[in-house]
Amino acid sequence: MSDRSEIEWSPRVSLAKIRALYINEARGTCADELIEEVGFGLFARCQSILEYTEALEEGGVRCKRCQKKGQTTIIQRNMNKPSSLLRCPVCGWQVRWRVYKAESQNEDGNLIAGHAGAAFTRYVAIYPKCRTREEKILAIDRLIHEFHWILIHEDQPARAAKPAAVNLLRGNIRQVMEMLNELTYGENTPLEILEGKQWWLEQQSKK
Ligand SMILES: [Zn+2]
Repeated sequence: MSDRSEIEWSPRVSLAKIRALYINEARGTCADELIEEVGFGLFARCQSILEYTEALEEGGVRCKRCQKKGQTTIIQRNMNKPSSLLRCPVCGWQVRWRVYKAESQNEDGNLIAGHAGAAFTRYVAIYPKCRTREEKILAIDRLIHEFHWILIHEDQPARAAKPAAVNLLRGNIRQVMEMLNELTYGENTPLEILEGKQWWLEQQSKK
């Protein structure tokens, strides 16, 4: 295996899985397996986003080979050299920063936390602690309805820009917005989720 091919990130979750989650929850028939699959898929994706953003903005790159063995080794890169060689002092894994960056920003891309970093960090902290199925669904619902918040004027509250879900779900902005706006709700949908939907619509109307 080449050093380059070890640069792997958790994929975005499919829109179909999210749709299925809401349809089944509305009917009161959502399987625990589907909740876990979506919940942990989003958890792994958030971890990838935070890891890549740290490497890009702070220069701390986590060694991908050590990571596979469950170890954490942070390689501090030279932020002034786009082509600097990253070399793990523990296992010898090495790759140039520009290669690491190019591999990370291809096809599945969308790994930069941007103005939604707090939402990704919060989900990573909260999801593993959720015990009941309702707690898990609420954490998922809150995460996928987050936004990248942009401050336009210092004396005004931040405004919702693009949805954070574009980092998390497999689709472009239009597809993600459509899917979220058309989610299915029913008599079994928890009240907090219905309130969350209201909030989501209000943020969009403020634009
Ligand atoms: Zn290593």
